[in-house]
Amino acid sequence: MRPIDLRSDTVTQPTSAMRRAMASAEVGDDCYGEDPTVRRLEEVAAARLGKESALLVPSGTMANLAALLTHCERGQAIVCGDTSHIVRSELGGAATLGGLTYRTVPNLADGTLDERDLAAALAPGGDAAGAGVVCLENTHNYCAGAALSPAATQSTARAAADAGVPLHLDGARIFNAALAQHTTVAELAAPATSVSFCLSKGLGAPVGSLLCGGAAFIARARQTRRMLGGAMRQAGVFAAAGIVALDEMVERLAGDHETARRLAAGLADIRGLRPLPVATNIVIVEVSGIDGATFVRRLRDAGVLCMEFGAGRVRFVTHNGIVAADIERALVAASSALDAAA
Ligand SMILES: *Cc1c(COP(=O)(O)O)cnc(C)c1O
Repeated sequence: MRPIDLRSDTVTQPTSAMRRAMASAEVGDDCYGEDPTVRRLEEVAAARLGKESALLVPSGTMANLAALLTHCERGQAIVCGDTSHIVRSELGGAATLGGLTYRTVPNLADGTLDERDLAAALAPGGDAAGAGVVCLENTHNYCAGAALSPAATQSTARAAADAGVPLHLDGARIFNAALAQHTTVAELAAPATSVSFCLSKGLGAPVGSLLCGGAAFIARARQTRRMLGGAMRQAGVFAAAGIVALDEMVERLAGDHETARRLAAGLADIRGLRPLPVATNIVIVEVSGIDGATFVRRLRDAGVLCMEFGAGRVRFVTHNGIVAADIERALVAASSALDAAA
């Protein structure tokens, strides 16, 4: 039987509509600004996010990196949550390549930054490096897919503006955040100077992320992308899938939230498992009785893939390749994995 792959929504396969669009995409040399499909995707993305311009990059990591290097001068500090993807999962790229430092503020369980801690991190004076940018993440991966509200984003943006620095929003899963709150991605992105999002996660495209912001900022980010080796040629081949993703794959994310809620409810009924509250398509469960690695291995042996996510925690992510019956099978496997422990 095919494994039930709940490791990440990045494992999604392109749909047949995407493959057709890719096969017939009109392309050109995007490094020369001549790929009409890439230009169209960038226009569609900018309009959706409510920003002037957008830039296609190969990955979410490069979208964040290009944003940070464009916003900051060497020696400045990136102020961000201590469990943000930028700090935890991007190999310190902004330090290595941009001479930037990281100043972390504790993330609260809902993915926001405590106002007083943020103010302290942004306070002028002292011997610390000056802040160059503030970052938020929506949805917040390590905070179990928590969705930040427009008001929370606005409040952090105000603190950043008071300190004279821009706000970058890592919106890898911002479409999930918007659906969960019955709002639009433009509303969520409005307080931010720049926003990045992934086509390659729940939206199901094979490759690509977009960085969106003002026209002058994006023009400079385009140069940064070139420096990072991220300028591409006939990228319209996969940009075409991105256009389909934005046209056809957004509303269906609600189904992923539904399967995630069902999974969490079932896991909560299993002794030794305690799921964190579910907001979107990410379920993080605290495991007791056995260690996380053993739990993950037993599930894998039963054909269910998930990921260890810090000590005693395991992450499951729902996506387009997961149906209700898969969730029921995963629950049976999870229950047996803990029975075997007894
Ligand atoms: C996945 C992710 C990224 C990075 O995207 P890649 O395409 O894997 O480089 C950045 N931020 C968050 C919150 C993510 O979940």
